[in-house]
Amino acid sequence: MKTYLSFDLYCAASFLKKKVKHKIKIRTVEDMRIGKSIMMSCAHFLRGYKGKCANVHGHTYKIEVMLDGEVKDGFVMDFYDLKEIMEQEIFTPYDHKLLNEIAPFDKINPTAENIASEFARRVKLKTKIDTTVRVYESPTTWAEARAE
Ligand SMILES: [Zn+2]
Repeated sequence: MKTYLSFDLYCAASFLKKKVKHKIKIRTVEDMRIGKSIMMSCAHFLRGYKGKCANVHGHTYKIEVMLDGEVKDGFVMDFYDLKEIMEQEIFTPYDHKLLNEIAPFDKINPTAENIASEFARRVKLKTKIDTTVRVYESPTTWAEARAE
């Protein structure tokens, strides 16, 4: 059930030297985004790529998982449960591995974009909650995918 709070906000428009009264409504928060990050180290290479990334090399990936859902009993999802899912679906299968040897990256290139898409799909299947995954391949480069 949606509930509303309302109150008067007095906003001082100091540059006009007068006060303006606004009536605003604030919806109570029912939908919220939560997130958890993990770090993992992987090797990969890009097939059919002309450049240094065609050689096997490694990254310390930062994986940010974000869930957008309804707050029920104070939770979108218990962080403990999200951690378990991230370990099962991301960390355990891929950490300290050559990504190109593990599905689906044995068939598609393990680019940051493809990794983000696959991880978002895997987490969404488990959580049943709209999922966004951001994969940092370095501190300054990332790709983000969403599974709804
Ligand atoms: Zn790379």
